[in-house]
Amino acid sequence: MDTAALMVRNIRLSYQDGMIVNDFSLSLKPQELGCLLGPSGCGKSTLLRAIAGFQELDSGEIWLDNELLSTERHRDIALFPHLTVAENIAFGLAGWSEESQDKRIAELLELIGLTGLNQRYPHELSGGQQQRVALARAMAPKPKLLLLDEPFSGLDTELRGRLASEVRTILKSDGICSLLVTHDQREAFDFADRIAVMHDGHICQFDTPFNLYHEPTSPFVAHFVGPGEMIDARVEGPRSVSSPLGVLTHDADLEFEVGSDVQIFLRPDDLIHDDDSSYQATLVGKHFRGAHHLYEVKLDNGVVLGCFAPSHHNHAIGERIGVSLDIEHLVVFPK
Ligand code: ADP
Ligand code: MG
Repeated sequence: MDTAALMVRNIRLSYQDGMIVNDFSLSLKPQELGCLLGPSGCGKSTLLRAIAGFQELDSGEIWLDNELLSTERHRDIALFPHLTVAENIAFGLAGWSEESQDKRIAELLELIGLTGLNQRYPHELSGGQQQRVALARAMAPKPKLLLLDEPFSGLDTELRGRLASEVRTILKSDGICSLLVTHDQREAFDFADRIAVMHDGHICQFDTPFNLYHEPTSPFVAHFVGPGEMIDARVEGPRSVSSPLGVLTHDADLEFEVGSDVQIFLRPDDLIHDDDSSYQATLVGKHFRGAHHLYEVKLDNGVVLGCFAPSHHNHAIGERIGVSLDIEHLVVFPK
C-alpha cells in the first residue's frame, strides 16, 4: 500500500435531521495539496470538521501518516478558519524554546514575503498581508495537515486567485500536506494538485485540474469546472461520431456501440476564432475576459457554442466571423 499523509476511509456523517455523507473515502499523498470542490451545502465543511476532530463519525476511520486518528493526534492538525474569525483562534508555539520560536518566526516571515514587517500591527497591513500572517500562524507549529475552509471567501476574485497560488507556493516549500474546501473552481485550480469534485455528499471525480477540465467523467463535473455546451451526436465508427458540426474523430476507441445516441461536451477552447477560416458563424454574444473574449457563436444549423478569441479581436455582435474546430479528444456521454 502507498503511504498516505491523510486517509479518510468509508466515513459516514450525519446531523440529527439527516445523513450528510455516507461511505466517503479520500486520501492525500505526503505533501500533496488537495481540494474539496462543490456547490454550497454538499457537505464540504462537515467533512473538514470531521477530519479536524470537531465532528463525530457515525462510522469509518481517519488515518494520519498511517496512524489512526485519535484525540491526542488532533494537535497535529491546524484548521485555518475564515478570515473574520482567524484572529480569534490561538495557534501557538507554546512549549518551544525561545530560540526555536524566533527561528521559526523568521523562517515563516520570509516564506510569506513579510520579512521586516514583524513589528507591524495587523491594522497596518493590507487584507492580503493579514491573510498571509494568519496563514503563517496556522503553519507555525508545523502541522502534519493544514485544513482550509473557504479561507479567501471574503476577498475579491482577483485577489482570491492570487492568494490561492501564493499559499500553494508557501505550503509546497514547507512541505505541508493540506486540504482546501471551496465552491470556487478557479481557487481550486490555483491551489490544488488534485481536486475532489463533490455533489450531494459524494465524490464525482478526484483528479488533476487538467483532467477535470479536459476529461470530465460526468456531465456534472464537465459543467462545474468550466464553461461548455452539450450537443447531440451519434456514434458512427469505433472512433467517430456524427454531429451538427460534421463527423468528429476521437483519439482513442469510444466506449459506445456504433449507432448509439450520445452527447458530446465542447469547451470554448475547442472552437477557435480564425479570420482566415472559410467556415463562418454569427457572433451572438461576447464577454470580455481581459486576456481573451469568450464569444458565443451561432452556427448556420442553429447550434450555439462558446468560442475563445484573442483579446484584440474585438468583433461586433451580429458580425459573421470565421471559426474552426480544434478537437482531438472528444468528451462523450450517454444520451
Ligand atoms: P458545504 O460546506 O459544502 O457548504 P456543509 O457541510 O456546511 O456544506 O453542510 C452540509 C449539509 O449539512 C447542509 O445541508 C447543511 O444545511 C447541513 N448542516 C451543516 N451544519 C449543520 C448543523 N450544525 N446541524 C444540522 N445540519 C447542518
Ligand atoms: Mg462550507
